[in-house]
Amino acid sequence: MTTTSTKTAAESAQNASLQVAQGVVPVAENISVFERTQEVIRTALEVMNYNDSYYELLKEPLRLLTVRIPIRMDDGKVKVFVGYRAQHNDAVGPTKGGIRFHPDVTEEEVKALSMWMSIKCGITNLPYGGGKGGIQCDPRTMSMGELERLSRGYVRAVSQIVGPTKDIPAPDVFTNAQIMAWMMDEYSRIREFDAPGFITGKPLVLGGSIGRESSTAKGVTIVMREAAAAMGMSIPGSRVIIQGFGNAGSFLAKFLYDAGAKVVGISDAVGALYNPDGLNIDELMDKRDSFGTVTNLFPSRITNQELLVKDCDILVPAAIENQITEKNAHDIKARILVEAANGPTTTKATEILSERGVLIVPDVLASAGGVVVSYFEWVQNNQGYYWTEDEVNERLDRILTDAFHNVYDTSRTKRVHMRLAAYIVGLRKMAEASRLRGWL
Ligand code: GLU
Repeated sequence: MTTTSTKTAAESAQNASLQVAQGVVPVAENISVFERTQEVIRTALEVMNYNDSYYELLKEPLRLLTVRIPIRMDDGKVKVFVGYRAQHNDAVGPTKGGIRFHPDVTEEEVKALSMWMSIKCGITNLPYGGGKGGIQCDPRTMSMGELERLSRGYVRAVSQIVGPTKDIPAPDVFTNAQIMAWMMDEYSRIREFDAPGFITGKPLVLGGSIGRESSTAKGVTIVMREAAAAMGMSIPGSRVIIQGFGNAGSFLAKFLYDAGAKVVGISDAVGALYNPDGLNIDELMDKRDSFGTVTNLFPSRITNQELLVKDCDILVPAAIENQITEKNAHDIKARILVEAANGPTTTKATEILSERGVLIVPDVLASAGGVVVSYFEWVQNNQGYYWTEDEVNERLDRILTDAFHNVYDTSRTKRVHMRLAAYIVGLRKMAEASRLRGWL
């Protein structure tokens, strides 16, 4: 395997399908995602009548490792990268969650994301707690060789606290199957045995699961179908706007287009396209570049913020955080908001939309398809027996359909909005497992 290539990752990304979070300008409210997550956790535990000690345990990850990774770059100089691995809670089982490569990665963000993973695993009833990792780097400016050395260096740095029965990483923003392959190889070398169950999201030939790559988008379509039915609507004929045309957004646009939805709007880092008669998704997918950019080809493009308030039935933010705020929540036309991105809606906006009767399918539910199929991958690795695509799809559908109804019913019976309901469902098992282990 070459480690001296000077080709940049951007050039090599054509086949690599890096998970691209589209760079849409964030509109922040005065509270960090970490604090926002703590707030929802506290309220959810209060609604379930758990005492303060539960909040004290669950308000932060149990473990956080910060590492500094020296990497020799292609120009011969050494650069030191900062990385993190956070493990929120392992009362239910090993922790699980992706590793992101991004210049904006911070300790706080990784901590919040590990807590979200706990909620996702709780909602879908997986035998895991949440974990998350990140490295401050810009993979778009690095060569494949540099990326490989960084991936291997990260595994060496965190190897003591990860493993198939401890903490199982996966892809996240700007990481992909190739990076998972390098990480699995490094871990197997350190341990001196083949360890496919150390990491998920691997290439198929190295023990990846059929359906993992498109699983997040497939999960979004499943919960969207259930949400539409709950609102007396159906996917065929519905007008959908998708913000973001990266991994999740583009697969999703394609699934919905094929299922007969009218995709009336899409966007990328440069801008957005809107056509009330429906866009030709096949054509847009053909024309986009390796980072998912396509709107630059159309002079008629509008801005991302303009797109969010255009007429539609279902709005899917599949890009970045803090897109729907108290500033634009009153102008959203959709009846259903499906959060395919992490944290696209602020607390205030959640309240405004819920009061207006918009059904919110929260991020921790809508984007859980990825970790569910990661769990399938881990199970297949542990068994050494591999499933068919139909088996993967059927099981994913069952888990997410149940998850949606659990959250929806909780929201109705407890008279709380869907995000709080998702946290209630997501925390219940972890709180009970912590109590039964005698931690509380
Ligand atoms: N990074 C993905 C997520 O945030 C997947 C995690 C996993 O597959 O473990 O859900």
